[in-house]
Amino acid sequence: MAKFLHHFIAGQPVVGQSGRYGDVFNPATGEVMARVPFASEAETMRAIEVAAAAFPHWAGIPAQRRARVLFRFKTLLEENLDALAECITSEHGKTLADARAATQRGLEVVEFACGIPHLLKGEFSEQVGTGVDCYSLRQPLGVCVGITPFNFPAMVPMWMFPIALACGNGFVLKPSEKDPSAALLLAELLQQSGLPDGVFNVVNGDKEAVDTLLTHPEVKAISFVGSTPVARYVYSTASAYGKRVQALGGAKNHLVILPDADLEMAVKGLISAAYGSAGERCMAISVAVVVGSIAEPLLEKLIPEIQALKIGPGTDPDVEMGPLVTAAHRERVLNYIQIGEQEGAKLRVDGRDIQVPGYEKGFFLGGCLFDEVTPDMRIYQEEIFGPVLCVVRVPNLDSAIHLINAHPFGNGVAIFTRSGEAARRFTHHIQVGMVGVNVPIPVPMAFHSFGGWKDSLLGSLHVHGPEGVRFYTRLKTVTSRWPTDSASTGLAMPLLS
Ligand code: NAD
Repeated sequence: MAKFLHHFIAGQPVVGQSGRYGDVFNPATGEVMARVPFASEAETMRAIEVAAAAFPHWAGIPAQRRARVLFRFKTLLEENLDALAECITSEHGKTLADARAATQRGLEVVEFACGIPHLLKGEFSEQVGTGVDCYSLRQPLGVCVGITPFNFPAMVPMWMFPIALACGNGFVLKPSEKDPSAALLLAELLQQSGLPDGVFNVVNGDKEAVDTLLTHPEVKAISFVGSTPVARYVYSTASAYGKRVQALGGAKNHLVILPDADLEMAVKGLISAAYGSAGERCMAISVAVVVGSIAEPLLEKLIPEIQALKIGPGTDPDVEMGPLVTAAHRERVLNYIQIGEQEGAKLRVDGRDIQVPGYEKGFFLGGCLFDEVTPDMRIYQEEIFGPVLCVVRVPNLDSAIHLINAHPFGNGVAIFTRSGEAARRFTHHIQVGMVGVNVPIPVPMAFHSFGGWKDSLLGSLHVHGPEGVRFYTRLKTVTSRWPTDSASTGLAMPLLS
């Protein structure tokens, strides 16, 4: 029997009232696990208003005490890591090890946010004029919103709310309707950590909830992570309503392999980065750019590794790659494989006829590899978001840089080489937000910030790290003096010195 999920508002589980629901699947079995309520405009407004009402008290608590709530939250996350991973695997399909590792990366943002008293320290200039001081400080915004994708149901929300809360904001999270349970568990853990009720709320839903969040006057900031078409919509709508927005979009990440690269390392890097989490990672490598003579020896080693991938339910500890998230998403990826064949790319590994005994109704797809892909093909230009790696052959490093810089996405990129000079030239000239050198998935640590360039990020600030603190606060600059006489400043533009 599928269970009914809820919203989490004002510290309480709240039953959906709209009568609209979505199905949440177990991707390994194909069964409907749960039904998630889709919030109406009125239900979403209530969550925003609850967060707005809770905000002044929370913002007034000294940062050090807010940090103590996050310290407790960190401990509870550690204690509940397995429960969170099980919850993610059951709705997303990725392996338990992968779900645990991703949650750990989210936990690292909580660790960063625990340092908020230090991070909020302002700047002070003494004696900018005679007897005049000037200082800058950062204050919270009010209600901040997170709208998050299916592929990291705990980590991506934790890119956002730990820092937003630490800065003193209220928060409303709208998780993906495909795997919403992790967000509800996080809300309970925050409550157990001592966060006052109403400061953090979860509203489940679809476009109706999102539209309410994007336009409500009490919402001051929107953090969005998802596909680029929705990112564009979120960015343009919320900006038009005067909100600050960071909207992270899709990706097509390239990995360049130079002829001098360590072949074993490049093959291992490609396998984990292209097929881990069934390619449903925004930092997944979906294009291998093979330079010159390395193409044949690389493919010779890579192809048998793809064919040997252990595919099955994410709960099996021996499994390396789980199913795709839904049947509809699997269909979408299958469609791209067909397009690739029609476009003339060579399908050298075809994972379409995979069978997982005992899991015949699961949304499985084996690893696929296209060779001789060219930039004019849709399978090169568009994000597939599945276990499909495209190989593009180029003659030299400059052509690799040119190829990547011409692509509309610019999330992550990597180069494998033994040449420091080539790596330096690449990192300097490449127009991509996150760059790896002999590191296939260069996800920045929590104390740096995460974000792409071009169509992979709309807005000016990346998420978490120092940029996160800037995003969730606004700057105030105070110029003050305490004169002992009452000499007039007159009507002229005041000069301080
Ligand atoms: P999605 O864009 O379909 O959904 C993201 C969120 O937007 C969800 O909460 C969803 O309910 C909501 N949404 C969907 N359609 C909407 C609409 N028409 N109007 C308003 N809201 C809508 O993305 P997804 O399929 O859940 O996630 C996969 C995508 O996310 C991929 O494109 C991936 O690259 C991207 N992603 C990017 C990053 C990054 O850091 N750049 C990280 C993770 C995922």
